[in-house]
Amino acid sequence: MEGVIKLLPDLVANQIAAGEVIQRPASAVKELMENAVDAGASVVELWIGDAGKKLIMIVDNGCGMSPADSRLCFERHATSKISRSEDLFRITTLGFRGEALASVAAVSQLELKTRREEDELATSVRIEGGKFISQEPTTHPIGTTIAVKNLFYNIPARRNFLKSNNLEMKHILEEFTRLALAGERITFKMFNDGKEMYHLPATNLKQRIVNLYGGHYNSRFVPIAQETDIIRISGFIGKPEFSKKIRGEQYFFVNGRFIRHPYLHHAVLKAYSELISESSFPSYFIFLDIDPSQVDVNIHPTKTEVNFIENQAIYAILHTAVRNSLGKHNLTPSIEFEPETGFNTYFPKDREIRPPGITINPDYNPFNPQPNAPEPKRTGLQSSSSRGQTSMLNQRGWEKLYEVRARQDEKDDAGFFPSEPETETDKSSAGVCDAKILQMHNSFIVTSIKSGMLIINQQFAHQRILYERFVQEIAKGEPVSQQLLFPLEISLSQGDMITFEAIREYLHAIGFLFSISETGMVTFTGIPAGLPQEGLATVIETLMHEWNEERDLSASSAVKTRLARFMAARLCVKTGTPLNQKEMQSLVDQLFNTEHPESTPTGKMVYIILPQSELEERFNKNLT
Ligand code: ADP
Ligand code: MG
Repeated sequence: MEGVIKLLPDLVANQIAAGEVIQRPASAVKELMENAVDAGASVVELWIGDAGKKLIMIVDNGCGMSPADSRLCFERHATSKISRSEDLFRITTLGFRGEALASVAAVSQLELKTRREEDELATSVRIEGGKFISQEPTTHPIGTTIAVKNLFYNIPARRNFLKSNNLEMKHILEEFTRLALAGERITFKMFNDGKEMYHLPATNLKQRIVNLYGGHYNSRFVPIAQETDIIRISGFIGKPEFSKKIRGEQYFFVNGRFIRHPYLHHAVLKAYSELISESSFPSYFIFLDIDPSQVDVNIHPTKTEVNFIENQAIYAILHTAVRNSLGKHNLTPSIEFEPETGFNTYFPKDREIRPPGITINPDYNPFNPQPNAPEPKRTGLQSSSSRGQTSMLNQRGWEKLYEVRARQDEKDDAGFFPSEPETETDKSSAGVCDAKILQMHNSFIVTSIKSGMLIINQQFAHQRILYERFVQEIAKGEPVSQQLLFPLEISLSQGDMITFEAIREYLHAIGFLFSISETGMVTFTGIPAGLPQEGLATVIETLMHEWNEERDLSASSAVKTRLARFMAARLCVKTGTPLNQKEMQSLVDQLFNTEHPESTPTGKMVYIILPQSELEERFNKNLT
């Protein structure tokens, strides 16, 4: 009986392999650029057309290939880099599996031109969908040019699966960046749709980082260096104050190859643990040089994951190296923080402090319109001029809720900031409220209201306020800007420029005023009214990163709402920010002028009311 098992034809095998190795244009960019680096090129050019969907072309001045090799290199497992299994333990090249060219050729229309120094004539080879088309002599400088056209043209499912050009371009830039960081002694150029995006001359690592990310990176990093028997560590790590809220520039390179390594990432994070908040990430460019026999790079087809034999020792060495570097540059705090003064000090230190349990009266509705509410005074500095009907309703409700404070305000009318705490406690007519506004732990705004105690989360409140403002402003196109006394300059990398272009109209729509120069310098002359100016660069950076995370949005109204949402989340006053009396008051006023003061745009509770009855009940319990 005839067997049913067959060997797959090479073509099919290559397409299957391609599925693993080449997932998107960026994967082809990575493989082809790696080959150029492995070929010893000193200049590598990357040309991209239509985000790599139409064209990916790599031009190098490396060693080139012989006429025979220029055909053979497309065979599966054809490699010049290893020949015996022992070689697997001393790999010094980026590639070695001999799969990349076969895979790329299986899913594209590919043209190769190559010449070695010793050959007079160059060779040109054409392959389409893995099928050999032609090979002929041609002319070409020493080195290799590979043009990959119409990637996935023969696999519609893959092609349709590709994301927006913006996103695919981001992936390509990421691969380009990794290789450029690892090969600072190679000149890299990148052209996007014919326009030069990067020209990175051969240099040292620090200068390469600056050339990639912009001049402002110059002062953000300190060097790291450690040499032990098993490993040599070098590179740059970010100063704690420049850590970011989003994961961004965390780069490990092992023997010149970019890798991901969550375990080692943790070693770095731990070294920063008392210096930055838990939700932010330090940037780093860390190079680990280690005997290749101590590394297994073979565990992942794209080779971005590696295993070290001495994993734990390396963890410890790295952790120490980061700490040493931070310490040496005086970036670790030498004085302990002062204990916070304020509410804290009133609690006995040795007793466990439990948060009060709060039950909310389900029938209580602060927005039930009630008659005879006095007109509250509004000192909102930034409250917008016109309000819709619905917000008027809420405002009414708020007036009621806030009635006592409003009266108190009239007393304070003389000055915005009563500089001294008032000696005479002003009791309201109800005799229960002293309507001072307090800030607790630089995070919560506490004030008394008629029915009890109101506790507002300042960050969430401001988020709600900004969100509604941005939505309105984007819709109306009439943002309120505040001019900056001194224009603020931010220099953008080429990659960031793409993103910045994508969000510029929205930035304009919410009140940012700026101009962009050819060299990627953005000069801000105005920002949305009422926003702090400090940290603007970080805010813009974060916005761009988040924009990229949300990339598959089409230009629908949903984009604007989402943008308003994340702008609000970014720009709002954060937990931990001290606010003065005037700012708190303005915040409270504006909050209750919004349509939905009760929740953030993502549905988190903005304030809590602790009813007076609840307080009374708690105090009336007998201690047993
Ligand atoms: P690998 O890089 O794993 O060896 P590839 O499929 O990427 O496998 O490449 C196959 C072979 O083709 C390489 O081993 C190398 O000999 C040759 N090659 C590929 N690209 C170039 C290039 N740009 N210059 C010179 N030789 C190249
Ligand atoms: Mg390769």
